[in-house]
This record gives sequence, structure tokens and C-alpha cells, in this order.
Amino acid sequence: MASEFDLIRQYFTRPTSHTNLGVGDDAALLTVDQGHELAISVDMLVAGTHFLADTNPRQLGWKSLAVNISDMAAMGAEPKWATLAIALLAADESWISAFAEGFFACAEKFRVDLIGGDTTRGPLCISVQIMGQIPAGRALRRDGAKAGDDIWVSGQLGDAALALNHLLSKHPLTDDELAQTLPALLQPQPRVALGLALHNVAHSAIDISDGLLADLGHILKASGLGAELCLDDIPRSAIMQQHLTRSSVLNMLLAGGDDYELCFTADADSHDRIMQIAQQLDIRLSRIGRTSAKPGLVIKDRQGNTIETGASGFDHFRQ
Ligand code: ADP
Ligand code: MG
Repeated sequence: MASEFDLIRQYFTRPTSHTNLGVGDDAALLTVDQGHELAISVDMLVAGTHFLADTNPRQLGWKSLAVNISDMAAMGAEPKWATLAIALLAADESWISAFAEGFFACAEKFRVDLIGGDTTRGPLCISVQIMGQIPAGRALRRDGAKAGDDIWVSGQLGDAALALNHLLSKHPLTDDELAQTLPALLQPQPRVALGLALHNVAHSAIDISDGLLADLGHILKASGLGAELCLDDIPRSAIMQQHLTRSSVLNMLLAGGDDYELCFTADADSHDRIMQIAQQLDIRLSRIGRTSAKPGLVIKDRQGNTIETGASGFDHFRQ
């Protein structure tokens, strides 16, 4: 049976590219570029709460790092380093090896060094801390939105929620629909390049992890604003569009969560610049509404009818 230290050496120790001292000592050492701020965020993924216990370990490895990189994207930070604290029920090496493969596939794609962590026995739980850097003062904060800003969203929303609801036997999809929506759930692609391109363009940003309404709500609250959204402008896949005939699916679009797209606000004058960024990065960017000094979040259809959603994002402590 492999020891804790064998597991760390074999599965979680890889060469680093921009770290002074990585895995193996009591602490890692790193240098932040001059004139930059360090951006740090941590997330915990608990089996049964954040993922199904039988989730494929390779996909889980990818996702546990990707959701943290998404927080860097939302700040406009360049992700650089991560630590990984993991509790495992047993030293199941085929599971750990697949998990590490997915984790490092994501780390390599986004040029993140794994520089340390902790490995312990316990109910399956994964905590990743991510560190990145931002030119000082350039971070895309939640409290920077201004009244009259356009509200933008990247990509399309709700596919991850559709796939999850299928897996939970709550809303069946065809095999083909499942194949097309599953990647959004299992292998989210954090919008790092977009976050970096939005320096000096966006006034505020957040990544959509708990659903558009909840996460946009955080920007509005932090900035002391309200907003009006146009439902028809909220980007969705053709599959989502078809399923929207069922009213329960509206919640998946607006409040489903696990989208890992960016929601940001910017001056209306920045419209052309933002469309240029969309083209350069080959990302769909949609203007979905506008902020207002008047508090509250109103959603209307194109005809101007108010939509009652009753939807709110995911909250771990709400009953
Ligand atoms: P300590 O007892 O000093 O906390 P550990 O025995 O927990 O050290 O870890 C030994 C080394 O391995 C440390 O550098 C730690 O950061 C690293 N490490 C432990 N677990 C992991 C992991 N899952 N991924 C990456 N590095 C890890
Ligand atoms: Mg330790």
C-alpha cells in the first residue's frame, strides 16, 4: 500500500515553470512580478454536495482546478500557482492517478504550477487554492459597476444545469443532447483570456458559478445598483432554447449555476471595443441588459412584459 509521501511524489509532483520552490518542503516559494498584486482564492468541493460521488476522477481533477481558475478570470488575474488539499477515503491509486491526470491537464492548459498541498484520509473532499497576479490596481472587482453600465455575459448559459438535471433524473435529455451539454458540466473552460482583455474596459466582473441572477446580484449589491435584463438576449444553446418550453427550465438558464462564464459591466461607449474583443478571442459576448441607480433586478421580454422567475441562485444554507 502506497504511503502518503509515495502518493504525493508519484501523483502530485511535477516540474514547475515559474516557481522558486515547489512541492517537497515545508512551504513553497514564489515571486510576484514587480508592479503586480497577488490575487488569491480558495474553493472546497465536497462529495455529495458539489459533485456526485461517482464522478469520473479525471473530470473531477479538471473541474476542481478549473473552477478556481475561473475566479482568477473573474478578477482579470493571470493564474499562476495552485495548492491542493485532498481528503481521500483510501489510497485508490487508479482513482488518484486519473484525478491527477485531469488536474494537470487543466494546469498545463492554463499554465498553472501546483506548488504544494496536503493529503489526508477522510470523506472525499478537495480544496484548491489558486494564486494569480494582476497589474496593481487593475482588478475587475464586484463593486465597480456604475449606473447605466451595459451588462454582458460570455458564452451561453444553462447547459451545465441541463446536463446535471438529466443526471439527477429530473429532466431527461436525448443521448445526443446529453453529449452536447455534458462538457459544460464536466469540463468548464475558464475565461482567463477574456478577463485579461477586460482590463480598462469592464467596470466590474464576476464568474457565474451559482447562476446568473445570484452572481449578477452580487455585483449589484456590491455596487449599490439595480438592473433590467432582457430575457430574449440571455445567450443559450439551441438545446436550451428547445427545452425552454418547459417553465422549470427557465430556472436552469437564469439560476442553474456551474456555467463558469463571466458576467461583467462596462460603459455603453465600450460596446464596439467589447465586440472587437469577442472577435479577437472568438468568444460569444452578449449584452443582456443595463444597470440602474434604482435597486432591484427586473427581467422583461422583448415586448416589455415583466417575467416573474422566482429564481435565485444556489445558496448552501438556504432551506
Ligand atoms: P507538512 O507536514 O510539512 O505539512 P506534508 O507532509 O503535508 O508536509 O507535505 C509534504 C509536501 O508535499 C509539502 O511540500 C506539501 O505542500 C506537498 N503536498 C502534500 N500533499 C499535496 C498534494 N495533494 N498536492 C501537492 N502537493 C502536496
Ligand atoms: Mg501538511
